[in-house]
Amino acid sequence: MSRTVSSHTSPLPWVSRLKPYVPGKPIEELERELGITGSIKLASNENPLGPSPLAVTAMQCALASLHLYPDGGAYRLRGALAEQLGVTAGEIVLGNGSNEVLSMICRAFLGTDHNAVVSQYAFVAYRVVVGTQGAQLREVPAVSFGHDLSAMAAACDEMTRLLFVANPNNPTGTFSTVDELRKLLRSVPEHVLVVVDEAYFEYVDRPDYCSALALRQERGNLVVTRTFSKAYGIAGIRVGYGVMPPDIAATLNRLREPFNANAAAQEGALAALGDEVFLRRSVDLNRHERARLQAALAVRGLEPVPSEGNFILFRSPVGGAELYDRLLREGVIVRPLQPYGMLEHVRVTVGMAGENDRFLDSLDRVLGEGAR
Ligand SMILES: *Cc1c(COP(=O)(O)O)cnc(C)c1O
Repeated sequence: MSRTVSSHTSPLPWVSRLKPYVPGKPIEELERELGITGSIKLASNENPLGPSPLAVTAMQCALASLHLYPDGGAYRLRGALAEQLGVTAGEIVLGNGSNEVLSMICRAFLGTDHNAVVSQYAFVAYRVVVGTQGAQLREVPAVSFGHDLSAMAAACDEMTRLLFVANPNNPTGTFSTVDELRKLLRSVPEHVLVVVDEAYFEYVDRPDYCSALALRQERGNLVVTRTFSKAYGIAGIRVGYGVMPPDIAATLNRLREPFNANAAAQEGALAALGDEVFLRRSVDLNRHERARLQAALAVRGLEPVPSEGNFILFRSPVGGAELYDRLLREGVIVRPLQPYGMLEHVRVTVGMAGENDRFLDSLDRVLGEGAR
Protein backbone atom coordinates (compact mmCIF):
# COMPACT_ATOMS: atom_id res chain seq x y z
CA MET A 1 0.00 0.00 0.00
CA SER A 2 1.32 3.40 -0.87
CA ARG A 3 0.42 6.72 0.64
CA THR A 4 1.41 10.22 -0.23
CA VAL A 5 4.03 11.62 2.05
CA SER A 6 4.83 15.30 2.21
CA SER A 7 7.51 17.44 3.72
CA HIS A 8 6.68 19.67 6.64
CA THR A 9 9.86 21.69 6.38
CA SER A 10 9.39 25.05 4.67
CA PRO A 11 12.01 26.06 2.13
CA LEU A 12 13.60 29.47 2.51
CA PRO A 13 11.12 32.04 1.20
CA TRP A 14 13.31 33.12 -1.73
CA VAL A 15 13.83 29.49 -2.70
CA SER A 16 10.05 29.07 -2.90
CA ARG A 17 9.96 32.01 -5.30
CA LEU A 18 12.62 30.60 -7.68
CA LYS A 19 11.50 29.54 -11.13
CA PRO A 20 13.44 26.46 -12.19
CA TYR A 21 15.55 26.75 -15.34
CA VAL A 22 13.61 25.33 -18.30
CA PRO A 23 15.97 23.49 -20.66
CA GLY A 24 15.39 22.91 -24.38
CA LYS A 25 13.06 20.00 -25.12
CA PRO A 26 15.01 16.76 -25.67
CA ILE A 27 14.46 15.04 -29.06
CA GLU A 28 13.58 11.75 -27.34
CA GLU A 29 10.80 13.39 -25.35
CA LEU A 30 9.25 15.04 -28.43
CA GLU A 31 9.33 11.82 -30.43
CA ARG A 32 7.81 9.84 -27.57
CA GLU A 33 5.00 12.39 -27.23
CA LEU A 34 4.21 12.73 -30.94
CA GLY A 35 5.14 9.21 -32.08
CA ILE A 36 7.43 10.61 -34.78
CA THR A 37 11.07 10.07 -35.72
CA GLY A 38 13.81 12.07 -37.45
CA SER A 39 13.29 15.26 -35.45
CA ILE A 40 15.95 17.94 -35.14
CA LYS A 41 16.84 20.03 -32.11
CA LEU A 42 17.90 23.62 -32.65
CA ALA A 43 17.05 24.65 -29.11
CA SER A 44 20.07 24.60 -26.81
CA ASN A 45 22.95 26.11 -28.78
CA GLU A 46 24.70 22.76 -28.90
CA ASN A 47 27.43 22.12 -31.46
CA PRO A 48 25.83 20.55 -34.57
CA LEU A 49 29.15 18.85 -35.46
CA GLY A 50 28.96 16.77 -32.30
CA PRO A 51 31.79 16.61 -29.76
CA SER A 52 35.44 17.21 -30.60
CA PRO A 53 36.64 13.75 -31.75
CA LEU A 54 39.89 14.14 -29.81
CA ALA A 55 37.81 14.82 -26.70
CA VAL A 56 35.75 11.66 -27.29
CA THR A 57 38.89 9.51 -27.53
CA ALA A 58 40.37 11.06 -24.42
CA MET A 59 37.16 10.53 -22.46
CA GLN A 60 36.97 6.90 -23.60
CA CYS A 61 40.48 6.37 -22.25
CA ALA A 62 39.47 8.04 -18.99
CA LEU A 63 36.69 5.48 -18.44
CA ALA A 64 39.19 2.77 -17.43
CA SER A 65 40.19 4.82 -14.38
CA LEU A 66 36.76 5.85 -13.19
CA HIS A 67 37.21 3.91 -9.93
CA LEU A 68 39.58 6.71 -8.92
CA TYR A 69 38.56 10.17 -7.77
CA PRO A 70 39.55 12.90 -10.22
CA ASP A 71 42.53 15.17 -9.62
CA GLY A 72 40.75 17.70 -7.39
CA GLY A 73 43.18 20.41 -8.43
CA ALA A 74 42.87 19.53 -12.16
CA TYR A 75 46.59 20.16 -12.53
CA ARG A 76 46.96 19.39 -16.24
CA LEU A 77 43.78 21.08 -17.48
CA ARG A 78 44.34 24.24 -15.47
CA GLY A 79 47.97 24.27 -16.61
CA ALA A 80 46.98 23.96 -20.27
CA LEU A 81 44.34 26.66 -19.94
CA ALA A 82 46.79 28.96 -18.15
CA GLU A 83 49.32 28.53 -20.92
CA GLN A 84 46.80 29.13 -23.69
CA LEU A 85 45.29 32.18 -22.00
CA GLY A 86 48.53 33.71 -20.76
CA VAL A 87 47.51 33.64 -17.08
CA THR A 88 48.64 31.57 -14.10
CA ALA A 89 46.93 28.33 -13.02
CA GLY A 90 46.13 30.03 -9.70
CA GLU A 91 43.82 32.38 -11.59
CA ILE A 92 41.65 29.57 -12.99
CA VAL A 93 38.71 27.87 -11.27
CA LEU A 94 36.93 25.01 -13.05
CA GLY A 95 33.23 24.32 -12.80
CA ASN A 96 30.73 21.59 -13.57
CA GLY A 97 29.83 23.77 -16.54
CA SER A 98 30.53 27.50 -16.34
CA ASN A 99 27.11 27.73 -14.73
CA GLU A 100 28.65 26.27 -11.58
CA VAL A 101 31.33 28.96 -11.57
CA LEU A 102 28.55 31.58 -11.69
CA SER A 103 26.83 29.79 -8.83
CA MET A 104 30.02 29.67 -6.74
CA ILE A 105 30.52 33.41 -7.27
CA CYS A 106 27.01 34.11 -5.99
CA ARG A 107 27.45 31.83 -2.99
CA ALA A 108 30.69 33.57 -2.09
CA PHE A 109 29.60 37.18 -2.54
CA LEU A 110 25.81 37.55 -2.27
CA GLY A 111 23.67 37.65 0.86
CA THR A 112 20.05 38.61 1.35
CA ASP A 113 20.89 42.31 1.75
CA HIS A 114 22.79 42.50 -1.52
CA ASN A 115 21.84 43.00 -5.14
CA ALA A 116 23.28 41.99 -8.49
CA VAL A 117 22.96 44.03 -11.69
CA VAL A 118 22.04 42.36 -14.99
CA SER A 119 20.58 43.48 -18.31
CA GLN A 120 17.02 42.84 -19.37
CA TYR A 121 17.09 39.79 -21.70
CA ALA A 122 20.40 38.61 -20.19
CA PHE A 123 21.00 34.85 -19.87
CA VAL A 124 18.27 33.61 -17.51
CA ALA A 125 20.62 31.46 -15.42
CA TYR A 126 21.83 34.61 -13.62
CA ARG A 127 18.36 35.02 -12.16
CA VAL A 128 18.49 31.54 -10.64
CA VAL A 129 21.99 31.78 -9.14
CA VAL A 130 21.29 35.24 -7.68
CA GLY A 131 17.82 34.27 -6.46
CA THR A 132 19.19 31.20 -4.67
CA GLN A 133 21.07 33.54 -2.35
CA GLY A 134 17.95 35.56 -1.55
CA ALA A 135 19.63 38.59 -3.15
CA GLN A 136 17.84 41.14 -5.34
CA LEU A 137 18.22 41.15 -9.10
CA ARG A 138 18.44 44.63 -10.65
CA GLU A 139 17.38 44.32 -14.25
CA VAL A 140 18.44 47.27 -16.39
CA PRO A 141 16.35 47.89 -19.55
CA ALA A 142 17.98 46.67 -22.75
CA VAL A 143 18.67 48.92 -25.73
CA SER A 144 17.98 47.29 -29.11
CA PHE A 145 18.02 43.93 -27.24
CA GLY A 146 21.60 44.57 -26.08
CA HIS A 147 23.14 45.50 -22.73
CA ASP A 148 23.15 49.22 -21.82
CA LEU A 149 26.47 49.14 -20.01
CA SER A 150 26.40 52.81 -18.93
CA ALA A 151 22.97 52.37 -17.35
CA MET A 152 24.15 49.13 -15.72
CA ALA A 153 27.15 50.91 -14.16
CA ALA A 154 24.80 53.67 -12.96
CA ALA A 155 22.44 51.08 -11.43
CA CYS A 156 25.10 49.97 -8.91
CA ASP A 157 24.65 51.16 -5.34
CA GLU A 158 26.43 50.41 -2.05
CA MET A 159 24.59 47.07 -1.72
CA THR A 160 25.57 45.87 -5.21
CA ARG A 161 28.10 43.05 -5.10
CA LEU A 162 27.96 41.60 -8.63
CA LEU A 163 27.38 42.88 -12.16
CA PHE A 164 26.94 40.32 -14.94
CA VAL A 165 27.75 41.03 -18.58
CA ALA A 166 27.02 38.30 -21.12
CA ASN A 167 29.28 39.04 -24.07
CA PRO A 168 27.88 37.96 -26.45
CA ASN A 169 24.53 37.53 -24.74
CA ASN A 170 22.23 34.55 -25.06
CA PRO A 171 19.36 34.61 -26.23
CA THR A 172 19.79 37.93 -28.07
CA GLY A 173 23.18 37.35 -29.77
CA THR A 174 24.09 40.98 -29.05
CA PHE A 175 27.58 42.00 -27.93
CA SER A 176 29.28 44.90 -26.19
CA THR A 177 32.17 46.65 -27.96
CA VAL A 178 35.71 46.98 -26.61
CA ASP A 179 35.10 50.66 -25.88
CA GLU A 180 31.83 50.05 -24.03
CA LEU A 181 33.40 47.25 -22.01
CA ARG A 182 36.51 49.26 -21.12
CA LYS A 183 34.36 52.15 -19.98
CA LEU A 184 32.26 49.81 -17.85
CA LEU A 185 35.29 48.22 -16.19
CA ARG A 186 36.59 51.67 -15.30
CA SER A 187 33.31 53.14 -14.08
CA VAL A 188 31.76 50.38 -11.94
CA PRO A 189 32.41 51.04 -8.22
CA GLU A 190 35.38 49.13 -6.79
CA HIS A 191 33.26 47.07 -4.35
CA VAL A 192 31.36 45.46 -7.27
CA LEU A 193 32.74 42.28 -8.83
CA VAL A 194 32.21 42.40 -12.61
CA VAL A 195 31.51 38.98 -14.17
CA VAL A 196 31.89 38.78 -17.95
CA ASP A 197 30.36 35.59 -19.34
CA GLU A 198 32.05 34.67 -22.61
CA ALA A 199 30.31 31.37 -23.41
CA TYR A 200 30.15 32.32 -27.10
CA PHE A 201 33.50 34.10 -27.34
CA GLU A 202 34.85 31.75 -30.04
CA TYR A 203 32.05 32.61 -32.47
CA VAL A 204 32.40 36.38 -32.45
CA ASP A 205 33.36 37.87 -35.76
CA ARG A 206 33.69 41.57 -35.09
CA PRO A 207 36.78 43.77 -35.07
CA ASP A 208 35.23 45.97 -32.34
CA TYR A 209 34.84 43.02 -29.94
CA CYS A 210 37.45 41.84 -27.50
CA SER A 211 37.57 39.41 -24.62
CA ALA A 212 37.54 40.96 -21.17
CA LEU A 213 40.70 38.91 -20.57
CA ALA A 214 42.52 41.48 -22.72
CA LEU A 215 41.24 44.26 -20.42
CA ARG A 216 42.30 42.78 -17.10
CA GLN A 217 44.69 45.68 -16.49
CA GLU A 218 41.62 47.97 -16.38
CA ARG A 219 40.15 46.31 -13.31
CA GLY A 220 41.26 43.88 -10.63
CA ASN A 221 37.75 43.03 -9.51
CA LEU A 222 36.85 40.99 -12.61
CA VAL A 223 35.95 37.39 -13.46
CA VAL A 224 35.75 36.08 -17.02
CA THR A 225 33.89 32.80 -17.57
CA ARG A 226 34.18 30.47 -20.56
CA THR A 227 32.81 27.04 -21.39
CA PHE A 228 33.54 23.82 -23.28
CA SER A 229 29.80 23.39 -23.92
CA LYS A 230 29.48 25.35 -27.15
CA ALA A 231 32.33 25.66 -29.69
CA TYR A 232 34.18 22.63 -28.23
CA GLY A 233 31.04 20.50 -28.38
CA ILE A 234 31.11 18.78 -24.98
CA ALA A 235 28.05 20.25 -23.22
CA GLY A 236 27.06 16.80 -21.94
CA ILE A 237 30.18 16.25 -19.84
CA ARG A 238 29.76 19.65 -18.09
CA VAL A 239 32.95 21.65 -17.87
CA GLY A 240 33.63 25.38 -17.86
CA TYR A 241 35.92 27.76 -16.02
CA GLY A 242 36.46 31.24 -14.69
CA VAL A 243 39.59 33.40 -14.89
CA MET A 244 39.99 35.72 -11.92
CA PRO A 245 42.56 37.27 -9.58
CA PRO A 246 44.19 34.65 -7.29
CA ASP A 247 42.47 35.97 -4.16
CA ILE A 248 39.02 35.53 -5.72
CA ALA A 249 40.05 32.06 -6.93
CA ALA A 250 41.11 31.23 -3.37
CA THR A 251 37.71 32.43 -2.11
CA LEU A 252 35.84 30.22 -4.58
CA ASN A 253 38.06 27.26 -3.73
CA ARG A 254 36.85 27.45 -0.12
CA LEU A 255 33.31 26.59 -1.16
CA ARG A 256 33.98 24.57 -4.32
CA GLU A 257 32.82 20.95 -4.17
CA PRO A 258 36.00 18.83 -3.92
CA PHE A 259 35.75 17.05 -7.32
CA ASN A 260 33.40 19.35 -9.20
CA ALA A 261 35.18 18.88 -12.54
CA ASN A 262 34.84 15.13 -13.06
CA ALA A 263 37.61 12.88 -14.38
CA ALA A 264 36.17 12.40 -17.88
CA ALA A 265 35.44 16.13 -18.14
CA GLN A 266 39.02 17.04 -17.27
CA GLU A 267 40.42 14.69 -19.93
CA GLY A 268 37.84 15.67 -22.52
CA ALA A 269 38.37 19.39 -22.01
CA LEU A 270 42.15 19.00 -22.14
CA ALA A 271 41.92 17.18 -25.48
CA ALA A 272 39.28 19.58 -26.85
CA LEU A 273 41.50 22.52 -25.97
CA GLY A 274 44.17 21.08 -28.25
CA ASP A 275 41.74 20.25 -31.06
CA GLU A 276 42.26 23.36 -33.15
CA VAL A 277 40.97 21.67 -36.29
CA PHE A 278 37.61 20.94 -34.70
CA LEU A 279 37.36 24.41 -33.20
CA ARG A 280 38.03 26.00 -36.59
CA ARG A 281 35.46 23.75 -38.31
CA SER A 282 32.85 24.68 -35.68
CA VAL A 283 33.46 28.38 -36.01
CA ASP A 284 33.63 28.33 -39.83
CA LEU A 285 30.43 26.31 -40.15
CA ASN A 286 28.67 28.66 -37.77
CA ARG A 287 29.88 31.78 -39.54
CA HIS A 288 28.61 30.54 -42.89
CA GLU A 289 25.29 29.12 -41.74
CA ARG A 290 24.55 31.98 -39.34
CA ALA A 291 24.84 34.48 -42.22
CA ARG A 292 22.64 32.32 -44.43
CA LEU A 293 19.95 31.87 -41.73
CA GLN A 294 20.08 35.53 -40.84
CA ALA A 295 19.45 36.50 -44.49
CA ALA A 296 16.70 33.89 -44.91
CA LEU A 297 14.88 35.13 -41.79
CA ALA A 298 15.25 38.76 -42.89
CA VAL A 299 13.81 38.00 -46.34
CA ARG A 300 10.78 36.50 -44.63
CA GLY A 301 10.28 39.71 -42.63
CA LEU A 302 11.01 37.95 -39.31
CA GLU A 303 13.38 40.66 -38.03
CA PRO A 304 16.38 38.53 -36.96
CA VAL A 305 18.56 40.30 -34.38
CA PRO A 306 22.18 40.39 -35.66
CA SER A 307 23.95 37.63 -33.72
CA GLU A 308 27.54 36.97 -32.68
CA GLY A 309 26.63 33.58 -31.19
CA ASN A 310 25.61 30.22 -32.64
CA PHE A 311 21.90 31.08 -32.51
CA ILE A 312 19.53 33.74 -33.81
CA LEU A 313 16.64 35.56 -32.12
CA PHE A 314 13.76 36.47 -34.41
CA ARG A 315 10.19 37.70 -34.25
CA SER A 316 7.30 35.34 -34.79
CA PRO A 317 4.25 36.84 -36.51
CA VAL A 318 2.03 34.38 -34.62
CA GLY A 319 3.62 34.74 -31.18
CA GLY A 320 6.57 32.78 -29.82
CA ALA A 321 4.69 29.97 -28.09
CA GLU A 322 2.46 29.32 -31.10
CA LEU A 323 5.35 29.15 -33.55
CA TYR A 324 7.24 26.86 -31.16
CA ASP A 325 4.23 24.50 -31.06
CA ARG A 326 3.74 24.53 -34.82
CA LEU A 327 7.41 23.74 -35.42
CA LEU A 328 7.32 20.96 -32.81
CA ARG A 329 4.63 19.22 -34.84
CA GLU A 330 7.03 19.40 -37.79
CA GLY A 331 9.68 17.69 -35.67
CA VAL A 332 11.73 20.88 -35.32
CA ILE A 333 12.58 21.96 -31.78
CA VAL A 334 13.41 25.66 -31.27
CA ARG A 335 13.39 27.72 -28.07
CA PRO A 336 10.40 29.75 -26.91
CA LEU A 337 11.36 32.70 -24.71
CA GLN A 338 8.60 33.16 -22.13
CA PRO A 339 11.15 32.94 -19.27
CA TYR A 340 12.65 36.14 -20.74
CA GLY A 341 9.31 37.88 -21.02
CA MET A 342 9.74 37.81 -24.80
CA LEU A 343 6.38 36.56 -25.97
CA GLU A 344 6.80 37.47 -29.64
CA HIS A 345 10.22 35.94 -30.18
CA VAL A 346 11.83 32.57 -30.72
CA ARG A 347 15.50 31.56 -30.69
CA VAL A 348 16.89 29.09 -33.20
CA THR A 349 20.32 27.47 -32.90
CA VAL A 350 22.47 27.48 -36.04
CA GLY A 351 22.66 23.85 -37.18
CA MET A 352 24.18 21.94 -40.07
CA ALA A 353 23.19 23.22 -43.52
CA GLY A 354 20.60 20.45 -43.92
CA GLU A 355 19.06 21.15 -40.51
CA ASN A 356 18.80 24.84 -41.26
CA ASP A 357 17.14 24.09 -44.61
CA ARG A 358 14.69 21.80 -42.89
CA PHE A 359 13.95 24.49 -40.29
CA LEU A 360 13.32 27.08 -43.03
CA ASP A 361 11.06 24.68 -44.99
CA SER A 362 9.05 23.95 -41.85
CA LEU A 363 8.88 27.64 -41.04
CA ASP A 364 7.41 28.37 -44.46
CA ARG A 365 4.90 25.56 -44.08
CA VAL A 366 3.66 26.59 -40.63
CA LEU A 367 3.58 30.31 -41.36
CA GLY A 368 2.11 29.93 -44.85
CA GLU A 369 2.73 32.18 -47.80
CA GLY A 370 1.06 35.05 -45.98
CA ALA A 371 4.06 35.39 -43.67
CA ARG A 372 6.45 36.13 -46.51
C1 LIG B 1 25.39 28.03 -22.67
C2 LIG B 1 25.75 29.19 -21.82
C3 LIG B 1 26.65 29.05 -20.77
C4 LIG B 1 27.38 27.76 -20.56
O1 LIG B 1 26.83 26.95 -19.66
P1 LIG B 1 27.65 25.67 -19.19
O2 LIG B 1 27.21 25.55 -17.79
O3 LIG B 1 29.12 25.98 -19.30
O4 LIG B 1 27.23 24.57 -20.09
C5 LIG B 1 26.98 30.16 -20.01
N1 LIG B 1 26.48 31.37 -20.31
C6 LIG B 1 25.66 31.55 -21.34
C7 LIG B 1 25.20 32.92 -21.67
C8 LIG B 1 25.24 30.46 -22.10
O5 LIG B 1 24.37 30.63 -23.09
